[in-house]
Amino acid sequence: MADYDYDLFTIGAGSGGVRASRMAASHGAKVAVAEEYRVGGTCVIRGCVPKKLFVYASHVHEEIEDAAGFGWTVEGARFDWKTLIANKDQEIDRLNGIYIRNLAGSGVEIIEDRAIIKDKHTIHLVNQNRDVTAKYILIATGATPNVHEVPGHEHAITSNEAFHLEELPKRIVVAGGGYISVEFAGIFNGLGVETTLLYRGEEILRGFDDDLRTTLHTEMEKKGVRIITGKVFDRIDKSGDELHATLSDGSVLETDAIMFAIGRNPNSQGLGLETVGVEVLPNGAIAVDAYSKTSIDNIYAVGDVTNRANLTPVAIREGAAFAETVFNNNPVAVDHSIIPTAVFSSPEIGTVGISEAEARKAFGRVDIYKSTFRAMKHTLSGRDEKTMMKIIVHPQTDRVLGVHMIGPASGEIIQAVGIAVQMGATKAQFDATVAVHPTAAEELVTMKTPEPQPDAIAAD
Ligand code: FAD
Repeated sequence: MADYDYDLFTIGAGSGGVRASRMAASHGAKVAVAEEYRVGGTCVIRGCVPKKLFVYASHVHEEIEDAAGFGWTVEGARFDWKTLIANKDQEIDRLNGIYIRNLAGSGVEIIEDRAIIKDKHTIHLVNQNRDVTAKYILIATGATPNVHEVPGHEHAITSNEAFHLEELPKRIVVAGGGYISVEFAGIFNGLGVETTLLYRGEEILRGFDDDLRTTLHTEMEKKGVRIITGKVFDRIDKSGDELHATLSDGSVLETDAIMFAIGRNPNSQGLGLETVGVEVLPNGAIAVDAYSKTSIDNIYAVGDVTNRANLTPVAIREGAAFAETVFNNNPVAVDHSIIPTAVFSSPEIGTVGISEAEARKAFGRVDIYKSTFRAMKHTLSGRDEKTMMKIIVHPQTDRVLGVHMIGPASGEIIQAVGIAVQMGATKAQFDATVAVHPTAAEELVTMKTPEPQPDAIAAD
């Protein structure tokens, strides 16, 4: 290895890059990681973690409202955005420090700079204006928020800026129908902002089970979020402190802030990939094989920049599998087929396995078990909020193909259900599991009768 400065040079100290670097170092490799913004990456600095802290903040107002039904009087409750931001920033600084210490403790050299690839084994550090060499290069540069470049788009923010707004706006329009959009619409609405969600498609959360999509739509509207579908921005004009957003149908929304949450692009631009011939797909994702190897033998890529499943635990797994494959002589391919995940909307979603539409496409006839009910807490709080749980079962093998739920703690519950689904559990095994009472999750082991099949409904 003496021919190179490092055995591994990682570009990007986010979820995937940090895990890969630390594990490679633990196998004896000499590793450096370059980071151009903050160690920890999107998830820790401006993604999952600060977002979840905001979600907690946004739920407090419903807790206060619900308290009355349990005999509590809460007076003088006020929300202060600046306190939330300051406390969130303090926590992010703490986590950033832990990431830096863990990398250093693993023997990984951290280089605070933008890195680009100069040739197969050479990396250029842009600000330091010097080159280093490495036997292997790992690209773990993540993704960046997409913006709809209509006239006036510069007046809008993305999730990056949403974490640092000076003031909480009185009104906001969140554009997009994916999980980040519905989460931020829930956050702003819960914090008292008059919130509109604008989505160009027919229904929010494309790709999720249809019952999750329609239930979330209904519940968000009940909580006060205005949802406009089938339209996009034509232009955005600033008028004093206000923004006027002209939509594709000519109507105008007056608002104080606009946030784009319309998807994320793999961060593969300007990295010098074309100079070394790393294959990039038309959508900007770096093409990789099952072991995260690119079209160039010694260059690998993991995480959002490969656009496989853009989630932190997946990036971490891909990073770990890369280190195991390359530095521990033990080829490991990540299985992307069953990924439990949550959407921290209000109410929350937990989902694992395939949707009903996907199951019908793959298998034709499938059994659907579904339960929609009001959570026990709301019998006293009086809140009109529905919980929905749904199990999709293969009719011949009885295997559970998917579990989809919306309601409080769905993210927590789906993690445990994910183990069963990953193990290939059958509906009979779900039924053989003793219920935990009184919980919402007990519905998952007590649903006895499948929904009528669509052909039976049609014949009625
Ligand atoms: P990242 O974590 O994005 O790290 C890439 C790093 O590379 C960045 O720090 C960047 O500054 C650095 N970099 C880029 N180019 C260079 C360069 N040339 N030189 C040096 N450094 C460079 N996932 C979940 O699982 N659960 C959630 O609840 C969740 N919520 C999210 C909420 C939001 C608002 C967002 C935006 C994302 C969320 N995600 C969530 C997704 C998650 O953050 C990503 O999937 C994850 O961070 C991907 O990890 P990564 O290693 O691929 O890239």
